[in-house]
Amino acid sequence: PSQQTFTNTIIPRRKTRPVRVANVTVGGGFPVVVQSMINEDTLDVKASIDAIRRLHEIGCEIVRVTVPSLAHAKAVADIKQKLKVTYQDVPLVADVHHNGMKIALEVAKHVDKVRINPGLYVFEKPNTNRTEYTQAEFDEIGDKIRETLEPLVLCLRDQGKAMRIGVNHGSLAERMLFTYGDTPEGMVQSALEFIRICESLDFRNLVISLKASRVPVMIAAYRLMALRMDELGMDYPLHLGVTEAGDGEYGRIKSTAGIATLLADGIGDTIRVSLTEAPEKEIPVCYSILQALGLRKTMVEYVACPSCGRTLFNLEEVLHQVREATKHLTGLDIAVMGCIVNGPGEMADADYGYVGKQPGYISLYRGREEIKKVPESQGVEELINLIKADGRWVDP
Ligand code: SF4
Repeated sequence: PSQQTFTNTIIPRRKTRPVRVANVTVGGGFPVVVQSMINEDTLDVKASIDAIRRLHEIGCEIVRVTVPSLAHAKAVADIKQKLKVTYQDVPLVADVHHNGMKIALEVAKHVDKVRINPGLYVFEKPNTNRTEYTQAEFDEIGDKIRETLEPLVLCLRDQGKAMRIGVNHGSLAERMLFTYGDTPEGMVQSALEFIRICESLDFRNLVISLKASRVPVMIAAYRLMALRMDELGMDYPLHLGVTEAGDGEYGRIKSTAGIATLLADGIGDTIRVSLTEAPEKEIPVCYSILQALGLRKTMVEYVACPSCGRTLFNLEEVLHQVREATKHLTGLDIAVMGCIVNGPGEMADADYGYVGKQPGYISLYRGREEIKKVPESQGVEELINLIKADGRWVDP
């Protein structure tokens, strides 16, 4: 790496082709797209519409639904149509299995993107005595996959729709496992096989994912995929995620460890944080990851010191009050600091500062300039007045 690598504070992103998913573009230098998935039964049209709408309203830009049967595929048509009429045309992705190619072809007429899992395109019968695949056997199965996949690829291509080739570490096809092992290489080869089939049919509206529940495996797989694609002159966008990340604090940390590490490498064009919680809980985590990395700014950035023996007010409580009063604003950086001992530079050049001055008093800053000293009891109100005076306030 050159010195520039270490001095550039804006993350340079891997160059990818733009892939349109209805009115959202994944890749091509567009902002990293936030996705999630509803967990309603798609046959329940009303509940699905409500769930999709709830997610979309809080910032989920592409919504995925499962389509396990032909009846589900038909229900998706209804869902899409009703959403358009009663709300708006939300970009929808359908998850389908190969053994339902009819399902895939039906649902491809109604959604904007279809997600397939290469590991589910299995033609060989399980054979416990087998220890390897000959090249001929390997290729023969490859031909069957091509035959099966072709109608779906042509259908999506001809409609200008997209496909996600979504490899999962936990469901690699047996022949990939035997040939490349249970490794990131096996995941990458699995994706490349499907990419090549699509390319041979002149279809390139592809997004690739290589999810795993173990963060180091997932990171290695995406890095290897990015490297291989660069070597092969492929520029497909990547969809990042840690599968089965669980719930609560550790689920969020696990997802962030995997997704943010790759984003910091410049890898990744769309993300999903998979939590064992209501899908609405995933969206703020996605936006926080993107904001922390400076990739998207969708909320106020709060800078706050951890407090110490010098702290002149109840920092935790004041930070909470400031956040409650200002969290609806966008594009601002607000610092809340216990004291100014190390100078205004500590506020990381925030737009506004709320800083402990002396017992019972705080100082308000605009950038590095101290504007006024006010009693602590009026601190939050005066901060709001300052933001208002600068014309940067909007009512919640
Ligand atoms: Fe302590 Fe002041 Fe630093 Fe906050 S800013 S941690 S109060 S020295």
